[in-house]
Amino acid sequence: MASTLTAMLLGAHMSTAGGLHTAFERGDALDCTAIQIFTSSPRQWRGRELSDDDVERFRSAWSDSGCEVCVAHDIYLTRLGTRDKTILKKSRQAFANELETCQRLGLQFLVMHPVGDNDPDEQAVLDRVAASLNEIFDRIEGDTTRVLLETTAGQGANVGYRFEQLARIVEGVEDVSRLGICLDTCHVFAAGYDISTAAGCKKTLAEFDAILGLENLRVLHLNDSIKPLGSRVDRHAHIGEGEIGETGFKTIMRDRRFSSVAKVIETPKDDVMDKRNLTRLRQLASNR
Ligand SMILES: [Zn+2]
Repeated sequence: MASTLTAMLLGAHMSTAGGLHTAFERGDALDCTAIQIFTSSPRQWRGRELSDDDVERFRSAWSDSGCEVCVAHDIYLTRLGTRDKTILKKSRQAFANELETCQRLGLQFLVMHPVGDNDPDEQAVLDRVAASLNEIFDRIEGDTTRVLLETTAGQGANVGYRFEQLARIVEGVEDVSRLGICLDTCHVFAAGYDISTAAGCKKTLAEFDAILGLENLRVLHLNDSIKPLGSRVDRHAHIGEGEIGETGFKTIMRDRRFSSVAKVIETPKDDVMDKRNLTRLRQLASNR
């Protein structure tokens, strides 16, 4: 049945235990058409060494699966906007390696959080992130993988919790054809954008469009929020069970402008919950 539902790009962040290629079996088991992975352990600086065989196995598993889009999420340690020269150098090296890995694997997107070091001058942090990206793009050529700046909750040293901040990074990047945006519903809500009502959702998306351009939105992270509006605390809840609630997700799922935008859940991994969350989103997308 060729409905908008089957054409929808929807899936979950998947474990790669047993090898990167195993993510696709897990995705297929949940009828995912889009998945997200870590290409290496997110709490370690050292990326995964991939042989040509590993890459081949990954590409072949991908082509056999029902998954169209595969997104990588950057490791948690990267701070492309820090003043600390040692950490900045390490971050740039790790991110360049990550981008290179993503291009070898043929991934469409690499999502990253803009992070600094609690420098009170946030504009300077944003400009350092842009400078880092320019340096990395100079070093790693190729246009297979687009780097996506993720909207953050503004927790800790995270910047990019206002759309204007992400726009500032985009302005500082020389080759914007290699850049895009990932909107995380939990993060924007925690940052103070009220997407829990249809009106609030529309207003937020209009603001996004005016400041960043909806055409630059490439991936949606669909997560409900445990913490309240404007809390600046990033805690993901199951779809419809947090402070955002079903109305917000229904509004987003039914917005035709997002039909070709990959939607990925990063909700807590309790046994059957991925299946339940994805089913819930499919139901919210349909008019029944
Ligand atoms: Zn996210």
